[in-house]
Amino acid sequence: MVSPVSLLLLFILLLPQNGDDYKEKRERMVKQAIAARGTSDRAVLKAMRTVERHLFVPPDQAAYAYEDNPLPIGSGQTISQPYMVAFMTEVIEPGPQMKVLEIGTGNGYQAAVLAEIVKQVYTIEIIPELGKAAAARLKNLGYANVEVKVGNGYHGWEAHAPFDAIVVTAAAETVPPPLIQQLKEGGRMVIPVGPENGTQTLLLLRKKKGKISTTKLMPVLFVPFTGGDKE
Ligand code: SAH
Repeated sequence: MVSPVSLLLLFILLLPQNGDDYKEKRERMVKQAIAARGTSDRAVLKAMRTVERHLFVPPDQAAYAYEDNPLPIGSGQTISQPYMVAFMTEVIEPGPQMKVLEIGTGNGYQAAVLAEIVKQVYTIEIIPELGKAAAARLKNLGYANVEVKVGNGYHGWEAHAPFDAIVVTAAAETVPPPLIQQLKEGGRMVIPVGPENGTQTLLLLRKKKGKISTTKLMPVLFVPFTGGDKE
């Protein structure tokens, strides 16, 4: 005979995750995977605590949304690892007056994290289905300061240039020259560079007096930057 207590326990175990569970998991993720690994920018930590990553992954991945891993989002693409999103956001030194360009919208998670901190985010996605879905998702979530465009990010977004910072979330063989050109004086760009299946390095580029200085940050693994220099 199954006791009423164990039936109740079973029922509780089978209850769908509610928002509070996600909040708790998110807090834990930020503490253990992000703050503990060195992210100290308060605005970045706050944004990582605020953006509900489980709303940016397919429903069958929601249970894993607060593990510090990339996850599949369809079309062969991934949502970036939370630690990497926090790290890339921190190195551009985001501020409330900034205009930021992102290349590789994916599902829009990094764009949402940026939008929590900076004034305006422009983001470009080459896969139309992903770009359109991200635009709809970000709009539904109330991000009025993000504009999504479907296209090849190689060319940047001339109409809104120059940018205070550029965040590239797909690995290019070399840094696309139009992106360097669209970076504001004093601006920062973070970009993974390297071959598709070889070692990629996350680079930080800074523009000072028109000149670019480059710092190697860490070895990384990103999906490839596609489309070459074609329109
Ligand atoms: N920023 C996303 C990461 C998505 S993965 C996040 O927050 O999780 C990188 C994305 O870059 C993929 O969706 C891929 O389709 C896109 N991409 C690759 N090459 C691109 C290009 N040339 N222009 C724009 N987007 C590109």
